[in-house]
Amino acid sequence: MAAPSLEDIETVTVIGAGSMGHGIAQVFAMHRYDVTLVDIEEEPLSTALENIEQSLERLGEEPGPVLDRITTTTDRNSGLSDTDLMVEATPEDIDLKRDVFAAADEAAPEHAILATNTSTLPVTEMADATDRPEQVVGMHFSNPVPLIDLVEVISGEQTSDSVIELTVALSEDVGKTPVILEKDVPGFLLNRINYAFWSEGLRHLDDGRHDAEAIDASIRRLGFPMGPFEVLDFAGIDVFYMVCQALQDRDVPVVISETHENLVEADAYGMKTGEGFYDYPSPGEYARVDIPRERRHEYNPYQMIASAVNAAAWLLDNDVTTMEDVDTAMRTGMSWPRGPLEFADEYGIDRIIELLERLHEETGREQYDPHPLLERMVEQGRLGWKTGEGFYEYDHETTSFGSVEYERREFVARIVLDRPDKLNAMDESAWRGLRAALEQARGDDDIRATIVEGSGRAFSAGDDIPEMAGWESSDECQEYLDEVLLPAIKAFRAHPKPTIALVDGIATGAGCELVLLSDLAVAGDGSRFGQPEGTIGALPPIWLAHGTTSVGKKKLLELATTGDLFTATEAHEMGLLNYAVDSEQAPDVARELARSTTASAPGSIESIKTIWNGVEDDLVDDWLATATDELAERLMSDEGRHGLEAFIEDETPRWER
Ligand code: NAD
Repeated sequence: MAAPSLEDIETVTVIGAGSMGHGIAQVFAMHRYDVTLVDIEEEPLSTALENIEQSLERLGEEPGPVLDRITTTTDRNSGLSDTDLMVEATPEDIDLKRDVFAAADEAAPEHAILATNTSTLPVTEMADATDRPEQVVGMHFSNPVPLIDLVEVISGEQTSDSVIELTVALSEDVGKTPVILEKDVPGFLLNRINYAFWSEGLRHLDDGRHDAEAIDASIRRLGFPMGPFEVLDFAGIDVFYMVCQALQDRDVPVVISETHENLVEADAYGMKTGEGFYDYPSPGEYARVDIPRERRHEYNPYQMIASAVNAAAWLLDNDVTTMEDVDTAMRTGMSWPRGPLEFADEYGIDRIIELLERLHEETGREQYDPHPLLERMVEQGRLGWKTGEGFYEYDHETTSFGSVEYERREFVARIVLDRPDKLNAMDESAWRGLRAALEQARGDDDIRATIVEGSGRAFSAGDDIPEMAGWESSDECQEYLDEVLLPAIKAFRAHPKPTIALVDGIATGAGCELVLLSDLAVAGDGSRFGQPEGTIGALPPIWLAHGTTSVGKKKLLELATTGDLFTATEAHEMGLLNYAVDSEQAPDVARELARSTTASAPGSIESIKTIWNGVEDDLVDDWLATATDELAERLMSDEGRHGLEAFIEDETPRWER
């Protein structure tokens, strides 16, 4: 028979008055429905009413009118005799649930919809216990029901489309966000992705490579309100254990980690027992865990995201659900700041596959074997932000300015110094290209931050020495500085968006000076920094002009006089970098930094930069003028000519001792 319409649903019967049942009853009663709450005993019913009252008070709602709409009974049949919708929330036992469904089928009116709140059991098996399988549906709320807005609406094998539509409408009517699962797959959407996500974190606790704090800090870094182990402690380590077992029972390849087993064996379920991954003041008393923010770059959180994306790809390729519903479910149900597919597009589908391949090789686990859907996306060039299309479509634009590539990726401009065979040495075309690319980013209001990086093994190894050696007079040099180099530096300083240097490799000479000029800087751990101009008889003009505002005199002069190469950690310590991280994560940390700057209004950022430049202007203008005069003279001196020649011939200059 055709499903009733939303207006026809007035009475709702909730079977089971436990953690979920009382919350479901509350939510329906808060939205005009007359609710009958059924349990096998009086005690859970009275506890349920107390809990509902307290919850309403916490929500600032007047409890009276809502409680007036709730009737409690231990007589299931009377509770079902004139119901329009049953929501079953009894313990997770298929035989018990089949009994409840068979009895409800007998007792409830013909038009009534029979829904189950099961987390892990097949909806179809419950539907098979009735003579109305097309009217049986999964309605999976999340705990605590009044606070978490997600409802997974699950179709059993025979559930009719009109029943799915009605369940979606009902969920929306009680203020929830429904997502639809067209198939009754183990774990549905949320638990399938949660397993993939959490198990990758748990694996590291077993092998001891990372601890819970480092992993939680890294996930929080992506904007999650809590790390995975904080969430597991909050939700119940035992609850997740049961989910894992249920997935295993339904032939999903699940590996339960040793750490997880041990915690369950020790009855350390998290907050509810006072002990889990972390300790709590007393059983049941929540206290926010103090996760050390400074550890947030120790673990690559995209390993967990990649595992979640692989699980999502399986759901999509098997026509279980849609991209939008995957992302909505994780945002709404698990407070992800962005959905897994949005994260994947941002990170790059090709890089997601690389991570998965590595994890697969490391563990041999099927869950990491990259799903063919992801491989097909790569074949089609759908890599995410970097090609303008991945799971979703994005604003994307590329332009070449000589040896400098400009790319818009969503709200970020990416400027790439692209002379990899010359270690991105800054010749005239590179300086001019850099300036033009900066202008392009400047003119685009949707660009919120500009990242400058180098292609290949270097950020930039500095100015183009053979080009400099070709100058025949100080005037020629001065003209180049005035017309090519200084305007590019001015454009860099005056750029109205935050500039972020992303270094992964060599940043020496002008390369190091560009890092100094940028507002923010991130480097991979193999990067090296240095100002070796003195070794060729020249000098680093920007450092002398600009360096004292971010690096002290001693370090500055050590850099400028020794020509030594400094590590990323040293560069970080001296104030040249915001973060030195492992190379794999460097582009992500730079992108995250770009996103973080979008917390500030674009106009505020412009003002901050104007004020900062104002502080520096006197120094820079005077000092730069002196420094460039010096440079022009130095290059034409005996030392300069000899030094350039020695550099080009790969010989040691005569002054070195
Ligand atoms: P619970 O143990 O807190 O409550 C179950 C209630 O059902 C108890 O009050 C029990 O007395 C009652 N009951 C048992 N047999 C009954 C029967 N024959 N008729 C009527 N009442 C009966 O369990 P819960 O955590 O509320 O879970 C209920 C369902 O919701 C399960 O299917 C579970 O998988 C699912 N679920 C739980 C959560 C969660 O976080 N707890 C989240 C989503 C879904």
